Amino acid sequence: MGFESEYIWMNGEMLPYKEATVHFMTPALHYGAAVFEGIRCYDTEQGPAVFRLKEHIARLFDSAKVLGYEKLPYSEQEIIDATKQTVAKNKFKECYIRPLVYMTSQTNFGLCLEGSEPHIGISAWEWGAMLGEDTLEKGIRANISSFTRHHPNVAMTKAKVAGNYANSILAKTESVRLGFDEAIMLDPQGYVAECTGENLFLVRDGKLFTPYTATVLEGITRDAIVKIAQDLGYEIKEQPIARDQLYIADEVFMCGTAAECVPVTEIDFRSIGSGTAGPVTRDIQSAFGKVLRGNHPRSAGWLDYVY
Ligand SMILES: *Cc1c(COP(=O)(O)O)cnc(C)c1O
Repeated sequence: MGFESEYIWMNGEMLPYKEATVHFMTPALHYGAAVFEGIRCYDTEQGPAVFRLKEHIARLFDSAKVLGYEKLPYSEQEIIDATKQTVAKNKFKECYIRPLVYMTSQTNFGLCLEGSEPHIGISAWEWGAMLGEDTLEKGIRANISSFTRHHPNVAMTKAKVAGNYANSILAKTESVRLGFDEAIMLDPQGYVAECTGENLFLVRDGKLFTPYTATVLEGITRDAIVKIAQDLGYEIKEQPIARDQLYIADEVFMCGTAAECVPVTEIDFRSIGSGTAGPVTRDIQSAFGKVLRGNHPRSAGWLDYVY
């Protein structure tokens, strides 16, 4: 399954897939001066619904602001509407959605946003479980990466800035070449940060723990899982987590829009807990699945119907 679709929304127009191109001299391509979002739309009984669309588009604008674009040529509401139009025009029931704001310029090829213009595109494609359907049950194998996650004053950890993902590409490629599925990355102080595009949780004695958001991306899935877990009566603590606290955890899972909620059942050749998805992870996965498909009290506030 590729990432093709019939249409891509670009700068106010719905273009056929093959026409949605950018020029080689687009600065964003050379310097990673772009910000993006990853969003999912789910098939529900009331039709396709985008999960937390408003929050994702707000974060897209926040990412642009962090990069240095104070104003974009469209309002948040216009991008929300364009996102829904992209799903509708492609007649998708379930899809992954990728809005991208990227630096363009006719006059400036330097390393300054001044004199450049942000352009915006939105694509969507049908994409099942990121690491395979069976991993949601069976879990994945991860290693602690030899690459450190961003220092908060080197790259901005609250923004999905394209250039920041060179760090994720280094880590993920290394992990896959070593035979693992995913990389767990430590922050510059040596505490557990996150995976290459997912936040991390551990479970010990029935309680959940996750790192503070200071050095990690403020995941919208992370936030949803915190609220769902609290609804289910679990206690959650945000605190620094050391590598060996993962080794001795009862359960570890990672979560993000692309990956959804995936058990991590082995880290650095040590099996975590029973070595399969644990009871707390399953409990949360099951409630999260209901939320996404409109079958949960939380769904009403979090689903934005396409039609
Ligand atoms: C996107 C992303 C996440 C997950 O965020 P969601 O809003 O849940 O999709 C976590 N970490 C990084 C580095 C990310 O880029």
